[in-house]
Amino acid sequence: MAVINKNIDKSEISKFEALSSRWWDRDGEFGALHDINETRLRYINDRAGLAGKQVLDIGCGGGILSEAMAKIGAQVTGIDAGKGPIEIARSHMVEKGLKIDYRQVTAEAFAVSHSQCYDIVTCMELLEHVPKPWSIIKACKELVRPGGHVFFATLNRNPLSYLLAILAAEYLFDLVPRGTHQYRRFIKPSEMIQWAQAVQLNPKNVSGLLYIPLLRCCILGGPACVNYMAHFSRHGSLQTWQDHM
Ligand code: SAH
Repeated sequence: MAVINKNIDKSEISKFEALSSRWWDRDGEFGALHDINETRLRYINDRAGLAGKQVLDIGCGGGILSEAMAKIGAQVTGIDAGKGPIEIARSHMVEKGLKIDYRQVTAEAFAVSHSQCYDIVTCMELLEHVPKPWSIIKACKELVRPGGHVFFATLNRNPLSYLLAILAAEYLFDLVPRGTHQYRRFIKPSEMIQWAQAVQLNPKNVSGLLYIPLLRCCILGGPACVNYMAHFSRHGSLQTWQDHM
């Protein structure tokens, strides 16, 4: 039996549990996720083509990205460690007449039984909420098929990201609840690339995502100073030499 190391921060899960009913309020605590969702969707779709693909959305929350991907033809599975977000995601999916397979489970546990099952794995705004982000990255590599795609979105760690993502967003403009983010958990793109390369995920692109709260929109493609998205591919085609070892 594989030993699953839980890589969960209970206080992080509780924060999202407490806000469960708010996932689909565009003017609520998750409003910024709604505002940037079209841009995230376009980035993933342009790079990997979502229609008809088996997609796993890790840390799916209430399903904001999962639903958007399902609407354009992806076969989506959404997983989250929290019970509340998954319940909301399920009921919203039913309301919208969509078909998404939602499960309450961690990436690491799911990877044991779903090795190489997905064409595309997405993991948005989760890495900065876990004690061991590299363990999630490793699970993503196990879950994606050889030649498949992995996408992350998270926050860089530098004085500007502290100023904008914590001081401004949480204290000055109340864009997200205070305590949403811990600066020490932010991740430099160089760290992400190093962890990904250590598990043979190949970096394809890193793009800054500049969120403009006043206009409720964002611009993708600049430097990755604060928010950023990253695209990796898993080495190999379905039949690699490793499969025959
Ligand atoms: N990916 C979604 C939601 C991001 S919020 C989006 O961007 O729209 C972060 C989510 O990660 C929350 O729903 C929280 O419950 C979940 N989460 C936190 N720690 C987790 C872990 N260790 N494993 C899986 N999900 C986790």
